Amino acid sequence: MDEVLLLTRAFVFAAEKHTGQTRKGENKEPYVNHLAEVAHLLAVAVQGRDANLIAAGLLHDTLEDTDTTYAELVSAFNEDIASLVGEVTDDKSLPKQERKRLQVEHAPSRTDRAKMLKLADKTSNLRGIVASPPAGWSIERRLEYVRWGRDVVAGLRGVHPWLEAQFDEAAEAAERALADG
Ligand code: ZN
Repeated sequence: MDEVLLLTRAFVFAAEKHTGQTRKGENKEPYVNHLAEVAHLLAVAVQGRDANLIAAGLLHDTLEDTDTTYAELVSAFNEDIASLVGEVTDDKSLPKQERKRLQVEHAPSRTDRAKMLKLADKTSNLRGIVASPPAGWSIERRLEYVRWGRDVVAGLRGVHPWLEAQFDEAAEAAERALADG
């Protein structure tokens, strides 16, 4: 499929699937803002050369947070994209703490491209903590979220220095903002 068609199709698909969902921050940004940010980070990281990875960036939360199935991603897109999304999807049948622990444990064994996708995802999430902190989250809870992000990212290093630097910047900015109260 032509790459521009692939990417615009992925954008429409993700926007429709996540209709009505918002980010957890106090500003209640549409969820698609997060997907656009992740895809753009990846596009810059690969300098536009890996359309499947960028599309997976747009689609990366469809299996976890919408009714989308793996087979649907294969038929609407392709096996490579479905597999990338599958790699960054938590098993929702597990309790939240266990899912968080498994993200840390599984990070080092992900494929290089899935590691890049996860790095972009974590970067966007930590930027969100500063730009629009979730209402009702204490400073301690936000710090704990940053620490967990750092623990996951420790297992993703060695694949893309620029993406790592984006994450480190976001994590440091979050910690600074939290230290300032
Ligand atoms: Zn995400």
